[in-house]
Amino acid sequence: MIDPLGNASRRRILLLGPPGAGKGTQAKRLARKFGVPHIATGDMLRSAVAAKTDLGNRAASIMARGDLVPDDLVIDMLLERISNADAAPGFILDGFPRTDAQAEALSSELGSEGLDAVIFVDVAEDEIVRRISGRRTCPAGHVYHVTDKPSRDGDYCEVDGNELALRPDDAEGVVRNRLAVYRSQTEPVIDFYAKAGSVLHVNGLGDPNEISGLIHEVLAA
Ligand code: AMP
Repeated sequence: MIDPLGNASRRRILLLGPPGAGKGTQAKRLARKFGVPHIATGDMLRSAVAAKTDLGNRAASIMARGDLVPDDLVIDMLLERISNADAAPGFILDGFPRTDAQAEALSSELGSEGLDAVIFVDVAEDEIVRRISGRRTCPAGHVYHVTDKPSRDGDYCEVDGNELALRPDDAEGVVRNRLAVYRSQTEPVIDFYAKAGSVLHVNGLGDPNEISGLIHEVLAA
């Protein structure tokens, strides 16, 4: 299923890891480098909630609790997104799949061409809680951290001037639930891919530039 050689002109890369592992930051960098879209189901769902679509209205309270949005809703949303023309040369997937059922749906959609790489970004739980509790985001999704990456404009976004806030599901009680959900439902997905081929492990502790370097090393190996 996983094609380790890949196709030089196509990149389909999956980033797995706990919430707060830095997947979003790394996914954005990979997407820029390879010229493919960064597809983050969390961002798509937050947009749907903000736009009050049917999907958003169904997902809102589930996301606020830190639980997973039902598979059928997320799978339909994701498969439709990757069928868009801009995803033809590939994509960097971030936050999907989060369950075995989602992983199976993705592999039957991609068929024998499969994925080019599955990267697992690993970070210990106390560091995750530290990162997430200090994370501040603007309504457009630009992400900062009170100590690791403070905005030059204080409580406002450097990019668009909007006020920064703690994402409601980044509150400590919700984070603990998101981690429990991750352990019970998403960790098994790592085994799913390990059995199907290879999972590239990267230690996600450290400076984002160093972690980008490690990701490029494992992709090139
Ligand atoms: P994230 O921004 O990836 O941390 O996602 C935020 C929230 O969106 C999660 O806590 C879930 O409630 C929901 N979500 C994102 N991706 C998925 C997915 N693949 N399956 C189910 N729920 C998801």
